[in-house]
Amino acid sequence: MLLKETTCIVCPVGCNLKIEKINDEIKVSGNLCMRGNEYGKSEITNPKRIVTCSIDNKDKIYFVKTTLPIPKSLVFETIKEIKKIPTKKSFNIGDIALKNILNTDADVVITGFHNKTL
Ligand code: SF4
Repeated sequence: MLLKETTCIVCPVGCNLKIEKINDEIKVSGNLCMRGNEYGKSEITNPKRIVTCSIDNKDKIYFVKTTLPIPKSLVFETIKEIKKIPTKKSFNIGDIALKNILNTDADVVITGFHNKTL
């Protein structure tokens, strides 16, 4: 039984994956490497995503991302937590703005910023 057709997002190749249930086992095809096999299976059992977002403070807009993929079901809650980061604080690239967000083991790290023009 076909469960899902999707694109592997692990690397830029973007293989088209077909995920099926055959004899109670999840089978992935279309992947060029085993990372796609893992990704395809996790899309059915526990889909995860890296979350990217921004923090707006008085002078700068900071870009952030989670250091690990987090369960897809926690993406909106994660964004809510990121938006609570104090906007008066100033950061450098690579700083951890939040540790172990929502007990996922992922930190939120600053990846870039740009200055606001007044
Ligand atoms: S299956 Fe492998 S080669 Fe294909 S997109 Fe995923 S990681 Fe890249």
